[in-house]
Amino acid sequence: MTSYVDQAVQARIAEARRKAAEKRQQREELAEARRHGLKARHRAKARRSGKRLGFCASCARPLMRGTYFLCSKGCGAKVCRGHPRCAQHHNPQCPNAPRAFTDSPQEAS
Ligand SMILES: [Zn+2]
Ligand SMILES: [Zn+2]
Repeated sequence: MTSYVDQAVQARIAEARRKAAEKRQQREELAEARRHGLKARHRAKARRSGKRLGFCASCARPLMRGTYFLCSKGCGAKVCRGHPRCAQHHNPQCPNAPRAFTDSPQEAS
């Protein structure tokens, strides 16, 4: 037979157990979110703090995240996004640009 007190104790234990499980799950979810969100957070922080990520290949302007695009020819150069002339300027200099003639001796190496 179970007394009222027993029931109350049982209920309290069950409640405590549930809360502990809840807390554990929250912790796990938080850790998971942290693992996944770390990269995104770093990116967001870099953008917020205006961290310089490189320089324009044409005008040497310092570039933050979101203010440049990578060369469309895939040479890895960064070019100002807000200045179309930078891309135009880079194209003839681009190491990946198709060349009709060769005037650079480095090309042999
Ligand atoms: Zn530029
Ligand atoms: Zn390029």
